[in-house]
Amino acid sequence: MSPQDQLNRLRREMDELNHEMLDLLSRRGTLAVEIGKIKRLQGVERYDPVREREMLDFIAASNQGPFETSRLQHIFKEVFKASAELQGEDRDKTLLVSRKRQPEDTLVHVKDVTIGNGRPQLIAGPCAVESFEQVNAVAEKLALSGVKVMRGGAYKPRTSPYDFQGLGFEGLKLLKTAADRHDLRVITEIMTPGAVESALPYVDIIQVGARNMQNFDLLKEVGKTDKPVLLKRGLSATIEEFIYAAEYIMASGNNQVILCERGIRTYERATRNTLDITAVPILKQETHLPVMVDVTHSTGRRDLLLPAAKAALAIGADGVMVEVHPNPAIALSDAQQQLDFDQFDQFVEGLTVQFPQLDLVKK
Ligand code: PEP
Ligand code: MN
Repeated sequence: MSPQDQLNRLRREMDELNHEMLDLLSRRGTLAVEIGKIKRLQGVERYDPVREREMLDFIAASNQGPFETSRLQHIFKEVFKASAELQGEDRDKTLLVSRKRQPEDTLVHVKDVTIGNGRPQLIAGPCAVESFEQVNAVAEKLALSGVKVMRGGAYKPRTSPYDFQGLGFEGLKLLKTAADRHDLRVITEIMTPGAVESALPYVDIIQVGARNMQNFDLLKEVGKTDKPVLLKRGLSATIEEFIYAAEYIMASGNNQVILCERGIRTYERATRNTLDITAVPILKQETHLPVMVDVTHSTGRRDLLLPAAKAALAIGADGVMVEVHPNPAIALSDAQQQLDFDQFDQFVEGLTVQFPQLDLVKK
């Protein structure tokens, strides 16, 4: 027999074995489903670690080679896992935020505004609320540009305790008054669980800041409200940790959660943070929640706001957040990266040329 004939014969044999293995796996899966039904009737846990250990020990004792025992056990563990999924075990453990749990997108409703419906939102406003005149001027500008949701920090998480800490509750009231005057919805950061309740009448979306992404008490508290929550990714948080933080909010009863990528800490110093742009499609695949990108805090550079916003929308973000100030040079925080009104006009124009689906209502 020629080597080629021999190879063909062995391959046919391999195909037959694959076929047999597939058949065995399917039969094993059907058995697992039957076992799962009986266990459900008995009310016992479907995952049985003692039984799994016995099966793995049996594999070790019966292994004749050529595969290493640890390799075989690894393969069998995957089979066990797939069987548990068939029994519905995995579904019970699947996170509330997971797309496996809810295949369709969650829409977040902020009064008459919807986030996550395919028409990206632009959230804009100053870094911090500084005075009524300041927020009112921004609100007027935003309304003219067609923006529907205004941001502004009343409680500011500042790196230095000597920097401007925000106007606090008074700032919230100023922001709300200015926003109401121009028919805008309000998003603002709340930093402590104790400040949530008093803030509720003044906010339409509660922002949980990057520094508070793992403030679990705060996550639980905002999870008990009926207000949408915009959760920012922590400075050094992995995507998995970010997803678990969102799960805290949902597990407390609130499914109106928006995820916001705002850059992560890396060794790169050319930008303030490193915008993890692929986090957007990953989060959209893994979860059913809307995902936004904060271009201001991720880049920290005015010249990068428009390209970063374009990248965000191109990769599938449900919206963009950007900071705007009447006179950034004298802003009490983030003076280098806020846009003045003319720059904001250019930003909006540049973005809408490429993304006319942006949900702006020009007045
Ligand atoms: C902010 O949006 O005002 C802010 C402080 O952002 P971050 O929490 O992402 O730093
Ligand atoms: Mn800022």
